[in-house]
Amino acid sequence: MTDPEDAAARREIAPVLVYDASDLPQPDMELYRSAWIGATHRRTVTAPPRDAASVRVPAGSFLKIVSVDGPQVGDLNLFADDNLDERFFSGKTRALHGTHVTEGDRLWSCLPYLRPMATIVEDTLRWYGTDHYGGRVHDVIGTRCDPYTGRLLGGDDYHHCCHSNLTRGLADATGLSPTEAEPHVHDVLNVFMCTGFDAAGRYFMKASPVRPGDHLLLFAEIDLLAVLSACPGGDCASGHSSDAAQCHPIDLEVWEGGDLGDWTPPEVSSYDRSHGR
Ligand SMILES: [Zn+2]
Repeated sequence: MTDPEDAAARREIAPVLVYDASDLPQPDMELYRSAWIGATHRRTVTAPPRDAASVRVPAGSFLKIVSVDGPQVGDLNLFADDNLDERFFSGKTRALHGTHVTEGDRLWSCLPYLRPMATIVEDTLRWYGTDHYGGRVHDVIGTRCDPYTGRLLGGDDYHHCCHSNLTRGLADATGLSPTEAEPHVHDVLNVFMCTGFDAAGRYFMKASPVRPGDHLLLFAEIDLLAVLSACPGGDCASGHSSDAAQCHPIDLEVWEGGDLGDWTPPEVSSYDRSHGR
């Protein structure tokens, strides 16, 4: 195939941002940070290696996701606690904030709700920035490792992929059966995971720079049910979907926020859903 005559000119057209995050309603980071200084620890649950844990986080509280024992990636699902249909929207979060998220970015819920579910208040891996491979930390690119893709690629059925861990975690949190819970499991925030795209546009991962004590601190904008899987890939330096990698637990700490003044949770989108009819 030959290029069209104006190929170079077409390639030279300058790009524009699809969305400019500075146009979004901005979080009051000063308020959140002062509420964190006055926060009180309420409980800790631990996602064991190759398994999931869930915790409820009331609006105005904080969820601190903490690396313990060793480098480990976590796959996070978020739900509105009173409505499993309102869940984290990885794709729109990516479109609004970029392929990886850090302090000041928000985790948005799916349509037709589209409101911030959580705001990232602290990220101890923010220093990592972008390495010379193009790798960054905390991605909203990947989906979650799952036994269906494993089977597609000719592997053995493996029941401790993040998808299955999240399914069991949600089932345990809600009383649903695994079959009922599974359709609610969605694309994740890959906490502590270091990923990017190679020159051919292929998705890569590399050993996470996370170390014990590192954390991602989320402010809960609404009442949340959080489910986190400690990925069987461990630090995701090589593979996943097997018991080969060294894995570690991840703690989920809930902290009740300090004084928030007259702050109130955001409303769901006010779009009237008429869709032109
Ligand atoms: Zn995984």
